[in-house]
Amino acid sequence: MHEAIDMPAWVGIAYLVAGVCFILALRGLSSPATARRGNRLGIFGMGVAVATTLLTHDVASLPEILIAIAIGGGIGLFTAKKIAMTDMPQLVAGFHSLVGLAAVLVAAAAYLNPVAFGIAEVVRTGIAYTMPDGTTYAGGMVQTFIPPASRIEMGLGVAIGAITFSGSIIAFLKLAGKMSGKPIMLPGRHVINLSLLAAIVGLVGYFTIDQSAWVFWTITALSFVIGFLLIVPIGGADMPVVVSMLNSYSGWAAAAMGFTLGNTAMIITGALVGSSGAILSYIMCRAMNRSFISVIAGGFGGDAAAGSAAAATDRPWKRGSAEDAAFLMQQAEQVIIVPGYGMAVAQAQHALREMGDLLKKEGVRVKYAIHPVAGRMPGHMNVLLAEANVPYDDVFELEDINGEFAQTDVAFVIGANDVTNPAAKTDKTSPIYGMPVLDVEKAKTVLFVKRSMGGVGYAGVDNSVFYMDNTMMLLADAKKMVDDIVKAMAH
Ligand code: NDP
Repeated sequence: MHEAIDMPAWVGIAYLVAGVCFILALRGLSSPATARRGNRLGIFGMGVAVATTLLTHDVASLPEILIAIAIGGGIGLFTAKKIAMTDMPQLVAGFHSLVGLAAVLVAAAAYLNPVAFGIAEVVRTGIAYTMPDGTTYAGGMVQTFIPPASRIEMGLGVAIGAITFSGSIIAFLKLAGKMSGKPIMLPGRHVINLSLLAAIVGLVGYFTIDQSAWVFWTITALSFVIGFLLIVPIGGADMPVVVSMLNSYSGWAAAAMGFTLGNTAMIITGALVGSSGAILSYIMCRAMNRSFISVIAGGFGGDAAAGSAAAATDRPWKRGSAEDAAFLMQQAEQVIIVPGYGMAVAQAQHALREMGDLLKKEGVRVKYAIHPVAGRMPGHMNVLLAEANVPYDDVFELEDINGEFAQTDVAFVIGANDVTNPAAKTDKTSPIYGMPVLDVEKAKTVLFVKRSMGGVGYAGVDNSVFYMDNTMMLLADAKKMVDDIVKAMAH
């Protein structure tokens, strides 16, 4: 029987406190101003949930669990401290794979030893039997009978967990550049995927009438395969959505296992992660003007771009210096700064804030325009600008600022590329066609900071803004260029 039903009152209250902390944490994380408090509440809630679980379960060996927590926590702390901000998406994908694997392992452990997990009834048959713990059942053999409801939870948990695991590994490899970001299209993949999905659903249903091992392990194996097949055809440009989608899956896997284990905190946490991940995926799809189905169907972010990138470099363009940029911006009434992935790589946010402060002192209005998928993870730019203490009031979302470029003297694009590319609006063959972009080309002057003319962004496409009459290319590392501009402004 599930413990959730007959747990002591204080346990229910403790899990409720943890659940409320998680909800408040999510609320806090929705704004940079309250994100730190949100994080602390999340940590506190998780501490309460873990402590309560340890206190209320017959833990076989507390020292072993504490050692495992110390090892896991140590690895997590070390990785989080060491990881560069730009590698965060692959780290997140890597961590999701662990959540998926944990769900698979818990489901497998519960399946193999359901009596210990308190989910199986013991059924006796004809022959005498001694349990491993020495209990003897006179004249009866013991068989376990897992109730059908628990089998559904287990089947779903192991299936979603396995899909999350293998899918996240592929997302990790693609994001880390260890595997091509281009979509890998298998012939007949829609038919294969749909058949596999139908087989998994059918087997989970069949599992309720037959708890045989082959059913459980076939569900697990097929789910590993489909996780791999689902993510392989998804191209680089859709990876942001995939990461948040896998985040959502890992939540649902945890929630399913929460039911199996009768752990309320796990159900709440899983449902919160699952639904917030799903909402984020939806918001990102909207931000990129892509339908959810077309992302899952894959094939986006292909190689159509490679040729155009090479061909375009012969076109004329203008190069400017840090001094030119300083002069142009000091004369401006309004400057909109558009940060992107390159700013994160160069860690130019502090220098950028300094530049913004200097401009403000000279009476220039300075605003920051954030594209929802700028950088390599949701909120990437917001985090970096917040770290550099850029005032929140100066930071604007795409839809709030896009109308202002036409009345702006200088658009200062720093390490962003795809998110400013007008091809997204005009070129139906472009892999980023349909993604809303920042209308930087409408500003009187565009200053474009990047290291070389040849370097393309994540989607691998050339950007016509480089070759406009009102664009000045500032070719250098973003931090070095901003430092030089700051020096030039001080003179
Ligand atoms: P892009 O990847 O389009 O462009 C980055 C630009 O930065 C390049 O032009 C590059 O040119 C330049 N750059 C790189 N390093 C430096 C440096 N040290 N100094 C100066 N410039 C540098 O970035 P965007 O932010 O515009 O777009 C994000 C892209 O990433 C979108 O396609 C999005 O879909 C995708 N994505 C977003 C995720 C998210 O959740 N936000 C997750 C995964 C992908 P050069 O090499 O010449 O310097």
